[in-house]
Amino acid sequence: MSKGPINIDQSNVFSAHSLRELATVHPDLRALAGAVLSIWDLKVSEGHRPQHEQDLHVLEGRSFTPWPVGTHNSRPSDAVHFLPFVGGKFIGWGVKKDFAGDDVPDYEAMYHWYAFAGLVIATAAALHVSGVMESRVIWGGDWDGDWNFKEHKLRDLAHWERVRHG
Ligand SMILES: [Zn+2]
Repeated sequence: MSKGPINIDQSNVFSAHSLRELATVHPDLRALAGAVLSIWDLKVSEGHRPQHEQDLHVLEGRSFTPWPVGTHNSRPSDAVHFLPFVGGKFIGWGVKKDFAGDDVPDYEAMYHWYAFAGLVIATAAALHVSGVMESRVIWGGDWDGDWNFKEHKLRDLAHWERVRHG
């Protein structure tokens, strides 16, 4: 039986890559990443995204938002990607299949992604209530936050963004 991801002995540390990307994101998302890391190991794969990369994402259908209005395009970035680790390794995506039966490809590993998202959602709520985070967050697996996970054509499970005000 493999060990689960929960690790509260404070032994998780960010990689150099994660720290580099974290330096480009809004302080709220930095606080969230640190709080989640203390429980579940993760990699911060992407923060700010420059124009040439945003153009490529739009071209390949991985983003519907052209430069410069994408949440990754601001400085600091209002969006960040978290990749959950289990046993020191990225859980990956697994085989693409239409598990939901709605003509949108899902990932074999999505159950782990949704478990991880639950932790991030709860942590963000706690940090918001306690005043550590000013903003609320949106998850790329449930863009409107209504807990209906099947209705979205773009399921960006690694994507977390802060709600912009004004
Ligand atoms: Zn994203």
